[in-house]
Amino acid sequence: MHRVVIRETMSLKGLVHNVVIALGLLVFCAQLGWPQARLSAHWEDLTADDFRSAIKQSQGTCLLPFGILEKHGPHLPLGTDLLDVRYAALHAAEQEYAVVFPEYYFGQIFEARHEPGTVAYSRQLQLQLLQETTDEMARNGCKKVIIVNGHGGNEHLLPFFAQSQLEKPHDYVVYVLGRVETPPGGPKAKSSGPDWHAGEAETSAMLIAHPELVHQDRARRESGGDLGRQKLPENVYTGIWWYARFPNHYSGDGSLATLDFGQFKMNAWIDGIVKAARAVKADQESLRLQNEFFEKAAHPLDTHPE
Ligand SMILES: [Zn+2]
Repeated sequence: MHRVVIRETMSLKGLVHNVVIALGLLVFCAQLGWPQARLSAHWEDLTADDFRSAIKQSQGTCLLPFGILEKHGPHLPLGTDLLDVRYAALHAAEQEYAVVFPEYYFGQIFEARHEPGTVAYSRQLQLQLLQETTDEMARNGCKKVIIVNGHGGNEHLLPFFAQSQLEKPHDYVVYVLGRVETPPGGPKAKSSGPDWHAGEAETSAMLIAHPELVHQDRARRESGGDLGRQKLPENVYTGIWWYARFPNHYSGDGSLATLDFGQFKMNAWIDGIVKAARAVKADQESLRLQNEFFEKAAHPLDTHPE
């Protein structure tokens, strides 16, 4: 018994010694301006307590990378859009801290229902799930939600969703970051025709995000050519237009993809997300104007020109 007590006394001494050293190091690091334990940007990796700090550090700015499950030519994985957009968003969050929502692939993809592996939720569910997701994000402190789109089929859905936020009052703002254009000056693309889905550009980006999932040798097993089977003016829209042009759900030629082109595209995308996140953090107007708008919308007859 006695020896145990001595051992405990000694280990207590050792503990005190270690704590003193640790505190000393902490003060030293703080003086040098070294960051303490870096917070993960992954929502799902944070503890509840760290989540609180993360929301504070991000100034309530959260990213919702939005992908889909759909065929990507004969050579890319079904999750390509989500894998790419998450790669870009998570790298952007390293430069401009934001909390990144987990895998979200519940978007618009009716046009690929004839292909294996496509998951196309109903129109109602897409809108309801997205609304409840951003509502829940906001309830947890994400007062600025940036939906980072990774899927062409969402290009109409997302502005509509953002517009419909004016339907009733919200204490948060939905921002939609659409396609980020690749600036000039990079490696020149080899494609001459449309390169819109699983072609040179998208395959190049995937060579950066997940090269292990690219089967470039299979890229020419199917045609990604444009069949142009509808003869309509450009400003006349039909849901079947995509199928009329690209029935293999493939547009372009993935065999032309290169790492250089992919890196240039991916860097531009990451840059675009960083710029958007910075602008959103600085934006104090949108929420103020939304509140003003909702207040007026409650009694339009009392609203007079400013
Ligand atoms: Zn895609």
